[in-house]
Amino acid sequence: MRLMEDTRESALREEFRAFFAEHCAPEYADECDARGRFPEELYRAAGQAGLLGACLPAEHGGRGEDATALAILFSEAGRAFPDFANLIVRQHLCATVLERFGSPEQRAELLPRFARGGIHMAFGASERGAGSDVTALATTARRDGGEYVVDGEKLYATGAHVADAVLVFAREPGTSGREGICALVVWSGNPGMRAERLDTLGVRATGTAMVTLTAARVPADARVGGDGEGWRVLRSGLDMERLATAAIATGASRFLLDRTIGYLNERRQFGRPLSGLQAVRHRLADLAMRTDAAELATMAVAHGLATGAPVHLDASVAKLAATETYMAVAHQAVQLEGGHGYTKDSVVQRHYRDAKMYEIGGGASDVQRDIIARGLGL
Ligand SMILES: Cc1cc2nc3c(=O)[nH]c(=O)nc-3n(C[C@H](O)[C@H](O)[C@H](O)COP(=O)(O)OP(=O)(O)OC[C@H]3O[C@@H](n4cnc5c(N)ncnc54)[C@H](O)[C@@H]3O)c2cc1C
Repeated sequence: MRLMEDTRESALREEFRAFFAEHCAPEYADECDARGRFPEELYRAAGQAGLLGACLPAEHGGRGEDATALAILFSEAGRAFPDFANLIVRQHLCATVLERFGSPEQRAELLPRFARGGIHMAFGASERGAGSDVTALATTARRDGGEYVVDGEKLYATGAHVADAVLVFAREPGTSGREGICALVVWSGNPGMRAERLDTLGVRATGTAMVTLTAARVPADARVGGDGEGWRVLRSGLDMERLATAAIATGASRFLLDRTIGYLNERRQFGRPLSGLQAVRHRLADLAMRTDAAELATMAVAHGLATGAPVHLDASVAKLAATETYMAVAHQAVQLEGGHGYTKDSVVQRHYRDAKMYEIGGGASDVQRDIIARGLGL
């Protein structure tokens, strides 16, 4: 079951699928994952194609794509390489924040670079003591004349170890909760900032890092957003992030379903293809149904965002449905590919590891359930 796509949407899907087919074969993704190698060539090509800042309007050099187009982009990126897709989400997140809250100087300097992949910025919100409850962040930014002095530690900042800059969320000393939060662009050459890659189960190509800030001096004009706006800045891209995550997960689920069905049609045991066994067929039918439902929810959120409708609750529904479906599909893809699925020769084990990240990052599944329950008046 697919939503009918109009001419523009099918042209976009065709374009994005062709881009990833040309620049990101499964073997390429496998190689980057196995070696923990940042997919530099793909990043450059995506930048040149305008995919890293596709959300930005034409006046800043972007493609001016709406949420529906972005959902299609992310589902094709998820189909090809979910690890890399996660990195593009961070780029869009930072670009969106700067477009909405940046000063005229920041917008003029940074947005055209985002539009063409000329800057790589990581998103630094989470900390050791501030994960699901990000309002507990403890990194401080103390004003000292024309500068901020930043101290603290950011955890799990995707791609920060190879980024040009990190969008660091900190707070004025003495504040708590949503009050006193500010966002600062901290460039990687800053002598007070160090990013150290973490060893993770999945997303091993783009990776994630711990960022340490020790009396890092940052010019006051590197702040994004006005006084008291930090919390709004932090939350501003949340619905888009959840939509993008849901789209990646549905694209990846479709890829795995197609692949697993192809594999089971070929693989013969007990004198016939494994796809002929009813227990296997029913499992695949269930997963296909869940993938369809997740995709419909995702596209409903995309259309809502594109038309300015409130989607906060639905974005949680789509994120939860799609990421848990991806995990279930990846689990069965390994199971049904048997011993081969468990070896590093098979692409399904990479998905099995990457899928878990999507149930945690961008708001864990339980947090999405909490949001949905609140929406139900519970
Ligand atoms: C690979 C990866 C990349 C990431 N990239 C970034 C990034 O680029 N920038 C960034 O800022 N952050 C990033 N994150 C951080 C991510 O957003 C957090 O991991 C996530 O918000 C969960 O926070 P936590 O890990 O501290 O888990 P905790 O908040 O400690 O939660 C642990 C578990 O407790 C349960 N739980 C938590 N809250 C509730 C609740 N209210 N109700 C019920 N159960 C609950 C959930 O099962 C949850 O998984 C990344 C994380 C990973 C793993």
